[in-house]
Amino acid sequence: MNISITRTTCPKEKPDSSTLGFGKIFTDHMFMMDYNVDKGWYNARIIPFANISIHPASTVLHYGSEIFEGLKAYRRADGTVQLFRPMENIRRMNNSAERLCLPQIPEEDALEALTTFVEFEQDWTPSANGTSLYLRPFLYGNDETLGVHAVHNATFVIIASPVGSYYKEGINPVKIMIEDQDVRAVRGGTGYAKCGGNYAASNRAGKRAEEQGYSQVLWLDGVERKYIEEVGAMNVMFKIAGEIVTPMLSGSILPGITRKSCIEVLKNEGYTVHERLLSIDELKEAMENGTLEEAWGCGTAAVVSPIGELFYQGVHYPVNNGQIGEITQHLYDTLTGIQWGRVEDTYGWTMPLKK
Ligand SMILES: *Cc1c(COP(=O)(O)O)cnc(C)c1O
Repeated sequence: MNISITRTTCPKEKPDSSTLGFGKIFTDHMFMMDYNVDKGWYNARIIPFANISIHPASTVLHYGSEIFEGLKAYRRADGTVQLFRPMENIRRMNNSAERLCLPQIPEEDALEALTTFVEFEQDWTPSANGTSLYLRPFLYGNDETLGVHAVHNATFVIIASPVGSYYKEGINPVKIMIEDQDVRAVRGGTGYAKCGGNYAASNRAGKRAEEQGYSQVLWLDGVERKYIEEVGAMNVMFKIAGEIVTPMLSGSILPGITRKSCIEVLKNEGYTVHERLLSIDELKEAMENGTLEEAWGCGTAAVVSPIGELFYQGVHYPVNNGQIGEITQHLYDTLTGIQWGRVEDTYGWTMPLKK
């Protein structure tokens, strides 16, 4: 793939690590590439970061044809930068594209776009503890007509944002409200695709939870409102009577790469991990009889997020006395260790970038 490069004429000052939040500051450049049904993908380019000009009838603005990915570049102690399982993101993006009738990108081209862009912008990868360069590839339908059909034109973009440590004041367990009104996704819908529309549909419940002092909602399935799916925009895991239980990928759950990595680490270390249906009644019983030992969310941004309290049907259930559990802490240490290069990567998950 030929990637043209246009350098910015006014490079920005790199931010101070202590001021980094999440996704507020962007690097000097972005990657862009266009698609036309007759031409395929064309005009791959790295250009100065700028606003995107878009036709008012563009598909994405009216019909929500948009998918995205989220992954990070990590700076190791030796100064080099590495990615964590980037092919997993690329494959998932193509699965999301298939579901939304957006064009897929050949895996090797998508990887070349990502690595070329991150190598070009790598000076923006911060080095302070817990910080990283967050990468946001996204792909949207871009036909300049209001007709409803599978798109003929699309755009793929990658932007990058230096982000601060998710846990500035240590890992604090969060309070979660079990949502029994809204649903995030249904089987047969777009739950397994990482698409903007799923987020739009989740916002109301998230807002209600926040207003009541909870940081996220725990989603139940959309058909029976009975089976546990995810927590906010993270996958969820439980330790019940010594064994790990996580909802199976049923089609309405997003197949998280952190989820997959946690399962692989736990199985490799000899834990029993069940990917199966887990009903809210079973969880309620485990909370009542004391066999629920740990609960945590998992996703790229937080790695793991311990759950310290669950609220369901008017009852507050503390989990592990509101403390982070042993397995949750172990997963956090293992995954962050591999990601930042502090722990040997025996799984072959990291991809070092060229200086
Ligand atoms: C991105 C995402 C996750 C986590 O996936 P990771 O690959 O682990 O970052 C979980 N649930 C939803 C809804 C997501 O969008």
